[in-house]
Amino acid sequence: MCGWSGARFVDYGWSERRRPDAQCPRCGSLERHRQAALVLGPALEEGPRVLHLAPEPAVVRWLRARAGTYRSGDLVPGRAMEVLDLTDLDVPSASVDLVYCSHLLEHIPDDRAAMAELARVLAPGGLAAVMVPIHPWPTDEDPTVTDPAVRRARFGLEDHVRYYGLDIVERLEAVGFAVEVHSSLDPGPEVVTRYGLAGDWPDYLFVCRLDSRLHRR
Ligand SMILES: [Zn+2]
Repeated sequence: MCGWSGARFVDYGWSERRRPDAQCPRCGSLERHRQAALVLGPALEEGPRVLHLAPEPAVVRWLRARAGTYRSGDLVPGRAMEVLDLTDLDVPSASVDLVYCSHLLEHIPDDRAAMAELARVLAPGGLAAVMVPIHPWPTDEDPTVTDPAVRRARFGLEDHVRYYGLDIVERLEAVGFAVEVHSSLDPGPEVVTRYGLAGDWPDYLFVCRLDSRLHRR
């Protein structure tokens, strides 16, 4: 993402979750950031209007340099250019070519409202790049679980409200998206090794476009 090259990336994570060959020593990018850069590269060639939600610093530099216009938002003041609530975005309908929404939906109780907002703001031909932690089972959620230790054990972090499985695709389709599923292992071992994409288990990137069968009216 920053052009760095060397023998290997540096370790990242804590205690039993520490991963080797994970973080770029120059820009701080992780496996999932570099996967997104590979998949989204073609969509950035013509300088799209970008909306970046809950921006991670390593991605900001890369994405902003390629965007035609760039706007970022976060629910927490000071973390992005403006305060935005993904379940009720202060963004005009059909005004964005690329929404980048990574590791955010698993924090949001009403994720269907958030997904509907992603669809609403997309311009025709645009895409939403959605990433969440994925485990190998169906989505596990329980809004009555609020104890931080239980959430951490069951959903991965204290402020996660669910752990998604690949059935997230059905939720995205339910708000009108056609979804392409990209695993970080899809590019094959040579590319996975070169760009340090392997991690503990595959990362998934869901490229969501408005389903023309539903929106052609
Ligand atoms: Zn880098």
